[in-house]
Amino acid sequence: MHKPGTDTPERFPARDRFAEGAQFVAGRPAPGTSGRTHAVTDPSTGEEVYRYELAGESDVDAAVAAARAAFPGWAAATPGERSDALNRFAAVLADRAEDFARAESLQCGKPLKLTREFDVPGTIDNTAFFAGAARQLQGQSAGEYSGDHTSYVRREPIGVVGSIAPWNYPLQMAAWKVLPAVAAGNTIVLKPAELTPLTSLLFARAAVDAGIPDGVINIVSGTGPGAGERLVGHPDVAMTSFTGSTAVGRRVAEIATATVKRLHLELGGKAPFVVFDDADLEAAANGAVAGALINTGQDCTAATRAYVQRPLYEAFVERTAALMETVRLGDPFAPGTDLGPLVSHAHRDRVAGFVDRARAYATVVTGGEAPGGDLRSGAYYRPTLVTGAAQDSEIVQSEIFGPVLVVLPFDTDDEGLRLANDTPYGLAASAWTGNVYRAQRATRDLRAGCVWINDHIPIISEMPHGGYKASGFGKDMSAYSFEEYTQVKHVMFDNTAVVRKDWHRTVFGDRH
Ligand code: NAD
Repeated sequence: MHKPGTDTPERFPARDRFAEGAQFVAGRPAPGTSGRTHAVTDPSTGEEVYRYELAGESDVDAAVAAARAAFPGWAAATPGERSDALNRFAAVLADRAEDFARAESLQCGKPLKLTREFDVPGTIDNTAFFAGAARQLQGQSAGEYSGDHTSYVRREPIGVVGSIAPWNYPLQMAAWKVLPAVAAGNTIVLKPAELTPLTSLLFARAAVDAGIPDGVINIVSGTGPGAGERLVGHPDVAMTSFTGSTAVGRRVAEIATATVKRLHLELGGKAPFVVFDDADLEAAANGAVAGALINTGQDCTAATRAYVQRPLYEAFVERTAALMETVRLGDPFAPGTDLGPLVSHAHRDRVAGFVDRARAYATVVTGGEAPGGDLRSGAYYRPTLVTGAAQDSEIVQSEIFGPVLVVLPFDTDDEGLRLANDTPYGLAASAWTGNVYRAQRATRDLRAGCVWINDHIPIISEMPHGGYKASGFGKDMSAYSFEEYTQVKHVMFDNTAVVRKDWHRTVFGDRH
Protein backbone atom coordinates (compact mmCIF):
# COMPACT_ATOMS: atom_id res chain seq x y z
CA MET A 1 0.00 0.00 0.00
CA HIS A 2 1.26 3.44 -0.89
CA LYS A 3 1.89 5.47 2.27
CA PRO A 4 1.44 9.26 2.57
CA GLY A 5 4.59 11.18 1.84
CA THR A 6 6.01 8.56 -0.51
CA ASP A 7 4.75 10.00 -3.78
CA THR A 8 6.98 8.42 -6.41
CA PRO A 9 7.91 9.17 -10.01
CA GLU A 10 6.18 5.94 -10.87
CA ARG A 11 2.84 7.36 -9.72
CA PHE A 12 3.43 10.83 -11.17
CA PRO A 13 5.88 10.62 -14.08
CA ALA A 14 4.68 13.91 -15.61
CA ARG A 15 5.23 15.97 -12.45
CA ASP A 16 7.94 18.20 -13.98
CA ARG A 17 5.55 19.41 -16.64
CA PHE A 18 3.56 21.35 -14.04
CA ALA A 19 6.52 23.25 -12.58
CA GLU A 20 5.60 26.53 -14.29
CA GLY A 21 2.01 26.61 -13.07
CA ALA A 22 -1.46 25.31 -13.82
CA GLN A 23 -2.61 27.87 -16.39
CA PHE A 24 -2.01 27.26 -20.10
CA VAL A 25 -2.43 30.39 -22.17
CA ALA A 26 -1.28 31.12 -25.73
CA GLY A 27 0.68 27.87 -25.91
CA ARG A 28 2.58 28.28 -22.64
CA PRO A 29 2.17 27.23 -19.01
CA ALA A 30 1.90 30.03 -16.46
CA PRO A 31 1.10 30.49 -12.77
CA GLY A 32 -2.28 31.89 -11.75
CA THR A 33 -2.51 35.44 -10.40
CA SER A 34 -5.45 35.21 -8.00
CA GLY A 35 -3.15 35.21 -4.97
CA ARG A 36 -4.74 31.96 -3.79
CA THR A 37 -3.54 28.39 -4.12
CA HIS A 38 -5.26 25.02 -4.39
CA ALA A 39 -4.00 21.48 -3.86
CA VAL A 40 -4.34 18.39 -6.00
CA THR A 41 -4.61 15.53 -3.54
CA ASP A 42 -4.17 11.79 -3.98
CA PRO A 43 -7.54 10.59 -2.63
CA SER A 44 -6.17 7.12 -1.95
CA THR A 45 -3.90 8.55 0.75
CA GLY A 46 -5.05 12.09 1.46
CA GLU A 47 -1.56 13.26 0.50
CA GLU A 48 -1.10 16.58 -1.33
CA VAL A 49 0.70 15.89 -4.62
CA TYR A 50 0.67 19.29 -6.33
CA ARG A 51 -0.15 22.82 -5.22
CA TYR A 52 -0.87 25.54 -7.75
CA GLU A 53 -1.82 29.20 -7.95
CA LEU A 54 -5.48 29.53 -8.92
CA ALA A 55 -6.52 31.57 -11.95
CA GLY A 56 -7.79 35.06 -11.24
CA GLU A 57 -9.96 37.21 -13.47
CA SER A 58 -6.94 38.58 -15.32
CA ASP A 59 -5.85 35.03 -16.21
CA VAL A 60 -9.29 34.33 -17.66
CA ASP A 61 -9.11 37.60 -19.60
CA ALA A 62 -5.66 36.69 -20.94
CA ALA A 63 -6.83 33.23 -21.99
CA VAL A 64 -9.91 34.63 -23.75
CA ALA A 65 -7.71 37.23 -25.48
CA ALA A 66 -5.34 34.45 -26.65
CA ALA A 67 -8.27 32.41 -27.95
CA ARG A 68 -9.70 35.46 -29.69
CA ALA A 69 -6.37 36.24 -31.33
CA ALA A 70 -6.01 32.65 -32.55
CA PHE A 71 -9.57 32.43 -33.89
CA PRO A 72 -9.25 34.06 -37.36
CA GLY A 73 -6.29 31.90 -38.37
CA TRP A 74 -7.73 28.65 -37.03
CA ALA A 75 -11.19 29.34 -38.48
CA ALA A 76 -9.58 29.99 -41.87
CA ALA A 77 -7.62 26.72 -41.84
CA THR A 78 -9.11 24.22 -44.27
CA PRO A 79 -11.00 21.25 -42.87
CA GLY A 80 -8.16 19.10 -44.14
CA GLU A 81 -5.57 21.15 -42.24
CA ARG A 82 -7.58 20.95 -39.02
CA SER A 83 -8.06 17.25 -39.57
CA ASP A 84 -4.31 16.71 -40.08
CA ALA A 85 -3.56 18.60 -36.87
CA LEU A 86 -6.07 16.51 -34.92
CA ASN A 87 -4.63 13.29 -36.34
CA ARG A 88 -1.16 14.39 -35.18
CA PHE A 89 -2.71 15.25 -31.80
CA ALA A 90 -4.14 11.71 -31.53
CA ALA A 91 -0.66 10.31 -32.23
CA VAL A 92 0.96 12.46 -29.52
CA LEU A 93 -1.71 11.40 -27.03
CA ALA A 94 -1.04 7.76 -27.88
CA ASP A 95 2.72 8.27 -27.35
CA ARG A 96 2.04 9.77 -23.90
CA ALA A 97 -0.78 7.39 -22.93
CA GLU A 98 0.94 6.12 -19.80
CA ASP A 99 1.63 9.63 -18.46
CA PHE A 100 -2.04 10.48 -18.93
CA ALA A 101 -3.22 7.27 -17.29
CA ARG A 102 -1.02 7.78 -14.22
CA ALA A 103 -1.82 11.46 -13.77
CA GLU A 104 -5.55 10.69 -14.08
CA SER A 105 -5.34 7.81 -11.61
CA LEU A 106 -3.36 9.94 -9.17
CA GLN A 107 -5.65 12.96 -9.10
CA CYS A 108 -8.97 11.01 -9.19
CA GLY A 109 -8.10 7.76 -7.42
CA LYS A 110 -9.21 5.73 -10.44
CA PRO A 111 -7.71 2.25 -10.77
CA LEU A 112 -4.92 2.29 -13.33
CA LYS A 113 -6.71 -0.44 -15.29
CA LEU A 114 -9.67 1.93 -15.75
CA THR A 115 -7.60 4.88 -16.94
CA ARG A 116 -5.45 2.66 -19.17
CA GLU A 117 -8.36 0.79 -20.73
CA PHE A 118 -11.14 3.40 -20.76
CA ASP A 119 -10.29 7.05 -20.10
CA VAL A 120 -7.13 7.29 -22.20
CA PRO A 121 -8.03 5.06 -25.19
CA GLY A 122 -11.48 6.68 -25.26
CA THR A 123 -9.85 10.10 -25.51
CA ILE A 124 -7.49 9.02 -28.28
CA ASP A 125 -10.42 7.52 -30.19
CA ASN A 126 -12.43 10.72 -29.75
CA THR A 127 -9.54 12.72 -31.13
CA ALA A 128 -9.33 10.46 -34.17
CA PHE A 129 -13.12 10.67 -34.61
CA PHE A 130 -13.13 14.48 -34.63
CA ALA A 131 -10.15 14.50 -37.01
CA GLY A 132 -12.50 12.73 -39.43
CA ALA A 133 -15.54 14.83 -38.51
CA ALA A 134 -13.60 18.02 -39.32
CA ARG A 135 -13.87 17.02 -42.99
CA GLN A 136 -17.53 16.00 -42.85
CA LEU A 137 -19.71 19.06 -42.27
CA GLN A 138 -23.18 18.23 -43.54
CA GLY A 139 -25.78 20.70 -44.82
CA GLN A 140 -28.71 21.28 -47.16
CA SER A 141 -27.88 21.40 -50.83
CA ALA A 142 -27.74 24.77 -52.57
CA GLY A 143 -30.73 25.44 -54.77
CA GLU A 144 -33.34 27.79 -56.16
CA TYR A 145 -35.88 27.62 -53.33
CA SER A 146 -37.17 31.01 -54.47
CA GLY A 147 -37.27 30.96 -58.26
CA ASP A 148 -35.24 34.15 -58.48
CA HIS A 149 -32.48 33.27 -56.06
CA THR A 150 -29.90 30.65 -55.29
CA SER A 151 -29.75 29.83 -51.60
CA TYR A 152 -27.13 27.92 -49.73
CA VAL A 153 -26.10 27.38 -46.15
CA ARG A 154 -22.70 28.03 -44.67
CA ARG A 155 -21.83 26.35 -41.39
CA GLU A 156 -19.34 28.53 -39.60
CA PRO A 157 -17.49 28.31 -36.30
CA ILE A 158 -18.96 30.38 -33.49
CA GLY A 159 -15.84 32.03 -32.07
CA VAL A 160 -14.32 31.64 -28.63
CA VAL A 161 -15.93 28.81 -26.64
CA GLY A 162 -15.75 28.88 -22.84
CA SER A 163 -16.04 25.39 -21.36
CA ILE A 164 -16.30 24.17 -17.79
CA ALA A 165 -15.69 20.54 -16.81
CA PRO A 166 -16.24 18.34 -13.74
CA TRP A 167 -13.76 16.14 -11.86
CA ASN A 168 -15.18 12.68 -12.48
CA TYR A 169 -13.61 12.07 -15.91
CA PRO A 170 -11.32 15.09 -16.24
CA LEU A 171 -9.48 13.92 -19.36
CA GLN A 172 -12.53 12.66 -21.21
CA MET A 173 -14.54 15.74 -20.28
CA ALA A 174 -11.73 17.98 -21.58
CA ALA A 175 -11.72 15.95 -24.80
CA TRP A 176 -15.51 16.06 -25.21
CA LYS A 177 -15.45 19.84 -24.83
CA VAL A 178 -12.30 20.72 -26.76
CA LEU A 179 -12.39 18.36 -29.74
CA PRO A 180 -15.70 19.20 -31.45
CA ALA A 181 -15.09 22.90 -30.80
CA VAL A 182 -11.65 23.02 -32.42
CA ALA A 183 -12.56 20.53 -35.19
CA ALA A 184 -15.25 23.03 -36.24
CA GLY A 185 -12.77 25.94 -36.28
CA ASN A 186 -13.49 27.53 -32.89
CA THR A 187 -10.90 28.31 -30.26
CA ILE A 188 -11.46 27.47 -26.63
CA VAL A 189 -10.79 28.30 -22.99
CA LEU A 190 -11.44 25.31 -20.74
CA LYS A 191 -11.76 25.44 -16.99
CA PRO A 192 -11.21 22.03 -15.40
CA ALA A 193 -12.47 21.29 -11.89
CA GLU A 194 -10.20 22.67 -9.15
CA LEU A 195 -9.46 19.17 -7.84
CA THR A 196 -8.32 17.71 -11.14
CA PRO A 197 -6.50 20.07 -13.54
CA LEU A 198 -3.53 17.80 -14.34
CA THR A 199 -4.69 15.87 -17.40
CA SER A 200 -6.39 18.89 -19.00
CA LEU A 201 -3.01 20.65 -18.82
CA LEU A 202 -1.23 17.64 -20.33
CA PHE A 203 -3.91 17.58 -23.05
CA ALA A 204 -3.37 21.23 -24.00
CA ARG A 205 0.42 20.75 -24.02
CA ALA A 206 0.08 17.69 -26.28
CA ALA A 207 -2.06 19.71 -28.70
CA VAL A 208 0.62 22.38 -29.04
CA ASP A 209 3.32 19.73 -29.44
CA ALA A 210 1.21 18.21 -32.23
CA GLY A 211 1.22 21.53 -34.08
CA ILE A 212 -2.17 22.95 -33.12
CA PRO A 213 -1.44 26.70 -33.04
CA ASP A 214 -0.85 28.58 -29.78
CA GLY A 215 -4.03 30.06 -28.39
CA VAL A 216 -6.42 27.54 -29.98
CA ILE A 217 -6.65 25.57 -26.70
CA ASN A 218 -6.22 27.42 -23.40
CA ILE A 219 -6.71 26.18 -19.84
CA VAL A 220 -7.60 28.24 -16.79
CA SER A 221 -7.38 26.36 -13.49
CA GLY A 222 -9.51 28.25 -11.02
CA THR A 223 -12.58 28.08 -8.85
CA GLY A 224 -16.14 27.92 -10.15
CA PRO A 225 -17.42 31.16 -8.63
CA GLY A 226 -14.16 32.93 -9.56
CA ALA A 227 -12.65 31.90 -12.89
CA GLY A 228 -15.75 29.92 -13.92
CA GLU A 229 -18.23 32.76 -13.63
CA ARG A 230 -15.80 35.18 -15.26
CA LEU A 231 -15.47 32.82 -18.22
CA VAL A 232 -19.23 32.29 -18.60
CA GLY A 233 -19.98 36.01 -18.38
CA HIS A 234 -17.06 37.15 -20.55
CA PRO A 235 -18.25 39.40 -23.39
CA ASP A 236 -15.74 37.91 -25.86
CA VAL A 237 -16.90 34.34 -25.27
CA ALA A 238 -19.55 33.35 -27.80
CA MET A 239 -20.62 29.97 -26.42
CA THR A 240 -20.66 28.29 -23.02
CA SER A 241 -20.37 24.54 -22.83
CA PHE A 242 -20.77 23.20 -19.30
CA THR A 243 -20.66 19.72 -17.77
CA GLY A 244 -21.39 19.38 -14.09
CA SER A 245 -24.19 19.29 -11.57
CA THR A 246 -27.70 20.51 -12.32
CA ALA A 247 -27.49 23.07 -9.50
CA VAL A 248 -24.36 24.74 -10.93
CA GLY A 249 -25.76 24.35 -14.45
CA ARG A 250 -28.69 26.58 -13.46
CA ARG A 251 -26.31 29.28 -12.26
CA VAL A 252 -24.22 28.99 -15.44
CA ALA A 253 -27.38 29.25 -17.55
CA GLU A 254 -28.41 32.46 -15.79
CA ILE A 255 -25.07 34.12 -16.48
CA ALA A 256 -24.83 32.85 -20.06
CA THR A 257 -28.38 33.97 -20.81
CA ALA A 258 -27.70 37.45 -19.52
CA THR A 259 -24.88 37.77 -22.04
CA VAL A 260 -26.80 35.99 -24.86
CA LYS A 261 -24.49 33.06 -25.44
CA ARG A 262 -25.14 29.76 -27.09
CA LEU A 263 -25.43 27.25 -24.28
CA HIS A 264 -24.69 23.54 -24.01
CA LEU A 265 -25.43 21.89 -20.64
CA GLU A 266 -24.52 18.33 -19.67
CA LEU A 267 -25.87 17.93 -16.15
CA GLY A 268 -26.55 15.36 -13.47
CA GLY A 269 -28.13 11.94 -13.74
CA LYS A 270 -29.90 9.27 -11.71
CA ALA A 271 -30.08 6.43 -14.20
CA PRO A 272 -32.71 3.71 -13.75
CA PHE A 273 -31.97 0.04 -14.44
CA VAL A 274 -35.22 -1.81 -15.21
CA VAL A 275 -35.19 -5.60 -14.89
CA PHE A 276 -38.24 -7.37 -16.35
CA ASP A 277 -39.23 -10.81 -15.10
CA ASP A 278 -37.97 -12.62 -18.21
CA ALA A 279 -34.45 -11.09 -17.93
CA ASP A 280 -31.29 -13.17 -17.57
CA LEU A 281 -30.82 -12.72 -13.83
CA GLU A 282 -27.10 -13.41 -13.82
CA ALA A 283 -26.47 -10.92 -16.68
CA ALA A 284 -28.60 -8.30 -14.94
CA ALA A 285 -26.86 -8.73 -11.57
CA ASN A 286 -23.41 -8.50 -13.17
CA GLY A 287 -24.53 -5.50 -15.22
CA ALA A 288 -25.93 -3.77 -12.16
CA VAL A 289 -22.73 -4.15 -10.16
CA ALA A 290 -20.49 -3.00 -13.00
CA GLY A 291 -22.91 -0.22 -13.97
CA ALA A 292 -23.24 1.05 -10.40
CA LEU A 293 -19.58 0.82 -9.41
CA ILE A 294 -17.69 2.00 -12.49
CA ASN A 295 -15.47 4.92 -11.51
CA THR A 296 -16.59 4.28 -7.91
CA GLY A 297 -20.10 5.31 -8.94
CA GLN A 298 -18.94 8.81 -9.90
CA ASP A 299 -20.42 8.52 -13.35
CA CYS A 300 -23.33 10.63 -14.54
CA THR A 301 -24.84 7.58 -16.29
CA ALA A 302 -24.13 5.05 -13.49
CA ALA A 303 -26.89 2.60 -12.62
CA THR A 304 -28.32 4.07 -9.45
CA ARG A 305 -31.91 2.80 -9.18
CA ALA A 306 -32.63 -0.83 -10.06
CA TYR A 307 -36.35 -1.58 -10.52
CA VAL A 308 -36.84 -5.33 -10.53
CA GLN A 309 -40.09 -7.09 -11.40
CA ARG A 310 -41.41 -8.92 -8.37
CA PRO A 311 -40.68 -12.56 -9.42
CA LEU A 312 -36.92 -11.76 -9.73
CA TYR A 313 -36.64 -9.21 -6.94
CA GLU A 314 -35.37 -11.33 -4.01
CA ALA A 315 -32.90 -13.30 -6.15
CA PHE A 316 -31.61 -10.11 -7.77
CA VAL A 317 -30.98 -8.42 -4.42
CA GLU A 318 -29.17 -11.48 -3.08
CA ARG A 319 -27.00 -12.04 -6.16
CA THR A 320 -26.16 -8.35 -6.65
CA ALA A 321 -25.15 -7.91 -3.00
CA ALA A 322 -22.99 -11.06 -3.18
CA LEU A 323 -21.26 -9.82 -6.35
CA MET A 324 -20.66 -6.38 -4.78
CA GLU A 325 -18.84 -8.07 -1.93
CA THR A 326 -16.36 -9.65 -4.39
CA VAL A 327 -15.17 -6.25 -5.68
CA ARG A 328 -11.69 -5.46 -4.34
CA LEU A 329 -11.04 -1.98 -2.98
CA GLY A 330 -7.41 -0.92 -2.98
CA ASP A 331 -4.56 1.27 -4.13
CA PRO A 332 -5.45 2.59 -7.61
CA PHE A 333 -1.93 1.70 -8.78
CA ALA A 334 -2.03 -1.93 -7.59
CA PRO A 335 -2.86 -4.44 -10.34
CA GLY A 336 -5.41 -6.31 -8.20
CA THR A 337 -7.56 -3.26 -7.44
CA ASP A 338 -11.09 -3.12 -8.84
CA LEU A 339 -12.35 -0.02 -7.06
CA GLY A 340 -10.50 3.10 -5.98
CA PRO A 341 -11.51 5.76 -3.48
CA LEU A 342 -13.96 8.58 -4.12
CA VAL A 343 -12.41 11.76 -5.47
CA SER A 344 -12.01 13.43 -2.07
CA HIS A 345 -12.67 12.92 1.60
CA ALA A 346 -15.33 15.65 1.50
CA HIS A 347 -17.16 13.83 -1.29
CA ARG A 348 -16.85 10.50 0.55
CA ASP A 349 -18.48 12.11 3.60
CA ARG A 350 -21.27 13.48 1.41
CA VAL A 351 -21.95 10.00 -0.03
CA ALA A 352 -21.90 8.48 3.48
CA GLY A 353 -24.39 11.13 4.59
CA PHE A 354 -26.96 9.95 2.02
CA VAL A 355 -26.62 6.35 3.20
CA ASP A 356 -26.67 7.25 6.90
CA ARG A 357 -29.84 9.31 6.48
CA ALA A 358 -31.44 6.41 4.55
CA ARG A 359 -30.96 4.03 7.50
CA ALA A 360 -33.97 5.71 9.10
CA TYR A 361 -36.32 4.50 6.35
CA ALA A 362 -34.50 1.77 4.36
CA THR A 363 -32.22 -1.26 4.74
CA VAL A 364 -28.52 -1.24 3.95
CA VAL A 365 -28.01 -4.80 2.67
CA THR A 366 -24.26 -4.53 2.14
CA GLY A 367 -21.62 -1.81 2.44
CA GLY A 368 -22.64 1.48 4.00
CA GLU A 369 -19.26 2.16 5.58
CA ALA A 370 -15.70 3.19 4.93
CA PRO A 371 -13.17 0.35 5.12
CA GLY A 372 -10.52 0.38 7.83
CA GLY A 373 -7.03 -1.11 7.83
CA ASP A 374 -4.62 0.03 5.13
CA LEU A 375 -7.36 1.98 3.40
CA ARG A 376 -8.28 4.07 6.43
CA SER A 377 -6.47 7.23 5.29
CA GLY A 378 -8.03 7.19 1.79
CA ALA A 379 -11.47 8.45 0.70
CA TYR A 380 -12.81 4.91 0.32
CA TYR A 381 -16.40 3.73 0.70
CA ARG A 382 -17.64 0.18 0.37
CA PRO A 383 -20.00 -0.82 -2.47
CA THR A 384 -23.43 -0.32 -1.01
CA LEU A 385 -26.82 -1.81 -1.79
CA VAL A 386 -29.98 -0.35 -0.26
CA THR A 387 -33.52 -1.78 -0.32
CA GLY A 388 -36.86 -0.82 1.17
CA ALA A 389 -36.67 2.88 0.24
CA ALA A 390 -39.80 4.68 -0.93
CA GLN A 391 -39.82 6.09 -4.47
CA ASP A 392 -40.03 9.66 -3.16
CA SER A 393 -37.17 9.25 -0.65
CA GLU A 394 -33.92 11.17 -0.90
CA ILE A 395 -31.81 8.13 -1.73
CA VAL A 396 -34.04 7.31 -4.72
CA GLN A 397 -34.46 10.86 -6.00
CA SER A 398 -31.09 12.61 -5.43
CA GLU A 399 -27.84 12.16 -7.30
CA ILE A 400 -25.42 10.57 -4.82
CA PHE A 401 -22.45 10.13 -7.18
CA GLY A 402 -20.93 7.24 -5.27
CA PRO A 403 -20.93 3.40 -5.17
CA VAL A 404 -24.53 3.14 -4.01
CA LEU A 405 -27.30 1.16 -5.72
CA VAL A 406 -30.92 1.28 -4.54
CA VAL A 407 -33.14 -1.68 -5.53
CA LEU A 408 -36.94 -1.42 -5.65
CA PRO A 409 -39.60 -3.94 -6.77
CA PHE A 410 -42.38 -3.38 -9.32
CA ASP A 411 -45.34 -5.44 -10.53
CA THR A 412 -46.57 -4.39 -13.98
CA ASP A 413 -44.48 -3.20 -16.93
CA ASP A 414 -46.36 0.12 -16.82
CA GLU A 415 -45.38 0.62 -13.20
CA GLY A 416 -41.69 -0.22 -13.81
CA LEU A 417 -41.36 2.28 -16.63
CA ARG A 418 -43.32 4.94 -14.75
CA LEU A 419 -41.07 4.66 -11.69
CA ALA A 420 -37.97 4.66 -13.90
CA ASN A 421 -39.06 8.02 -15.34
CA ASP A 422 -40.01 9.46 -11.96
CA THR A 423 -37.02 11.69 -11.11
CA PRO A 424 -36.10 15.12 -12.46
CA TYR A 425 -33.21 13.58 -14.41
CA GLY A 426 -33.08 11.96 -17.85
CA LEU A 427 -29.51 11.23 -18.87
CA ALA A 428 -29.44 7.46 -19.32
CA ALA A 429 -31.44 4.31 -18.57
CA SER A 430 -31.34 0.59 -19.24
CA ALA A 431 -33.86 -2.21 -19.61
CA TRP A 432 -33.16 -5.91 -19.18
CA THR A 433 -35.37 -8.39 -21.02
CA GLY A 434 -35.29 -11.12 -23.66
CA ASN A 435 -38.64 -9.99 -25.04
CA VAL A 436 -38.32 -7.82 -28.14
CA TYR A 437 -41.67 -6.10 -27.56
CA ARG A 438 -40.80 -5.11 -24.01
CA ALA A 439 -37.41 -3.90 -25.20
CA GLN A 440 -38.95 -1.81 -27.97
CA ARG A 441 -41.45 -0.29 -25.58
CA ALA A 442 -38.71 0.57 -23.08
CA THR A 443 -36.61 2.31 -25.72
CA ARG A 444 -39.64 4.40 -26.63
CA ASP A 445 -40.99 5.18 -23.16
CA LEU A 446 -37.85 5.74 -21.10
CA ARG A 447 -37.27 9.50 -21.03
CA ALA A 448 -33.49 9.63 -21.29
CA GLY A 449 -30.84 10.66 -23.80
CA CYS A 450 -29.48 7.11 -23.94
CA VAL A 451 -31.25 3.78 -23.44
CA TRP A 452 -29.34 0.50 -23.30
CA ILE A 453 -30.94 -2.90 -23.72
CA ASN A 454 -29.25 -5.68 -21.71
CA ASP A 455 -26.24 -3.50 -20.93
CA HIS A 456 -25.50 -0.31 -19.03
CA ILE A 457 -22.56 2.15 -19.45
CA PRO A 458 -20.88 1.66 -22.87
CA ILE A 459 -20.37 4.78 -24.95
CA ILE A 460 -18.81 5.24 -28.36
CA SER A 461 -17.34 8.23 -30.20
CA GLU A 462 -19.77 8.04 -33.14
CA MET A 463 -22.91 8.21 -30.98
CA PRO A 464 -24.33 11.21 -29.07
CA HIS A 465 -24.24 11.57 -25.30
CA GLY A 466 -26.53 14.06 -23.57
CA GLY A 467 -29.59 14.48 -21.45
CA TYR A 468 -33.33 14.94 -21.36
CA LYS A 469 -35.14 16.91 -18.61
CA ALA A 470 -32.92 18.28 -15.79
CA SER A 471 -29.93 16.39 -17.22
CA GLY A 472 -29.53 19.26 -19.66
CA PHE A 473 -29.42 19.73 -23.39
CA GLY A 474 -26.86 19.50 -26.12
CA LYS A 475 -24.86 16.46 -27.14
CA ASP A 476 -21.27 15.45 -26.57
CA MET A 477 -19.33 13.21 -28.98
CA SER A 478 -20.67 12.27 -32.44
CA ALA A 479 -21.60 14.43 -35.41
CA TYR A 480 -24.40 15.98 -33.30
CA SER A 481 -21.86 17.52 -30.98
CA PHE A 482 -19.75 18.75 -33.88
CA GLU A 483 -22.76 20.57 -35.35
CA GLU A 484 -23.48 22.31 -32.04
CA TYR A 485 -20.15 24.08 -32.26
CA THR A 486 -21.12 25.60 -35.61
CA GLN A 487 -23.66 28.23 -36.57
CA VAL A 488 -25.73 28.26 -39.72
CA LYS A 489 -25.72 31.15 -42.16
CA HIS A 490 -28.20 31.40 -45.03
CA VAL A 491 -26.67 33.01 -48.11
CA MET A 492 -29.10 34.18 -50.83
CA PHE A 493 -27.98 35.25 -54.30
CA ASP A 494 -30.22 37.23 -56.64
CA ASN A 495 -30.24 35.55 -60.06
CA THR A 496 -32.24 38.15 -62.02
CA ALA A 497 -30.19 41.37 -62.08
CA VAL A 498 -33.58 43.14 -62.14
CA VAL A 499 -33.49 46.65 -60.64
CA ARG A 500 -37.14 46.98 -59.52
CA LYS A 501 -37.93 43.50 -58.27
CA ASP A 502 -41.40 42.05 -58.09
CA TRP A 503 -41.56 42.10 -54.29
CA HIS A 504 -40.69 45.85 -54.26
CA ARG A 505 -44.39 46.40 -54.96
CA THR A 506 -44.90 46.12 -51.21
CA VAL A 507 -42.88 49.33 -50.88
CA PHE A 508 -43.45 51.17 -54.17
CA GLY A 509 -47.07 50.18 -54.81
CA ASP A 510 -47.86 49.30 -58.47
CA ARG A 511 -45.49 51.87 -60.02
CA HIS A 512 -42.90 50.32 -62.37
P1 NAD B 1 -20.01 20.81 -10.18
O1 NAD B 1 -21.25 21.29 -10.83
O2 NAD B 1 -19.82 21.05 -8.73
O3 NAD B 1 -18.74 21.48 -10.88
C1 NAD B 1 -18.53 21.35 -12.27
C2 NAD B 1 -17.63 22.48 -12.72
O4 NAD B 1 -18.32 23.71 -12.52
C3 NAD B 1 -16.31 22.60 -11.96
O5 NAD B 1 -15.29 22.95 -12.87
C4 NAD B 1 -16.58 23.76 -11.01
O6 NAD B 1 -15.41 24.48 -10.65
C5 NAD B 1 -17.48 24.62 -11.86
N1 NAD B 1 -18.32 25.56 -11.12
C6 NAD B 1 -18.77 25.46 -9.83
N2 NAD B 1 -19.50 26.56 -9.52
C7 NAD B 1 -19.51 27.37 -10.60
C8 NAD B 1 -20.07 28.62 -10.89
N3 NAD B 1 -20.78 29.29 -9.98
N4 NAD B 1 -19.88 29.16 -12.12
C9 NAD B 1 -19.17 28.50 -13.05
N5 NAD B 1 -18.59 27.30 -12.83
C10 NAD B 1 -18.76 26.73 -11.62
O7 NAD B 1 -19.90 19.27 -10.56
P2 NAD B 1 -18.80 18.23 -10.10
O8 NAD B 1 -19.07 17.91 -8.67
O9 NAD B 1 -17.44 18.69 -10.51
O10 NAD B 1 -19.15 16.98 -11.05
C11 NAD B 1 -20.15 16.09 -10.79
C12 NAD B 1 -21.42 16.46 -11.54
O11 NAD B 1 -21.18 16.48 -12.95
C13 NAD B 1 -22.52 15.43 -11.35
O12 NAD B 1 -23.75 16.09 -11.16
C14 NAD B 1 -22.52 14.66 -12.67
O13 NAD B 1 -23.71 14.01 -12.98
C15 NAD B 1 -22.19 15.73 -13.63
N6 NAD B 1 -21.67 15.16 -14.88
C16 NAD B 1 -22.49 15.16 -15.99
C17 NAD B 1 -22.05 14.62 -17.19
C18 NAD B 1 -22.92 14.61 -18.40
O14 NAD B 1 -22.42 14.28 -19.46
N7 NAD B 1 -24.19 14.96 -18.30
C19 NAD B 1 -20.75 14.08 -17.26
C20 NAD B 1 -19.95 14.11 -16.11
C21 NAD B 1 -20.42 14.66 -14.94
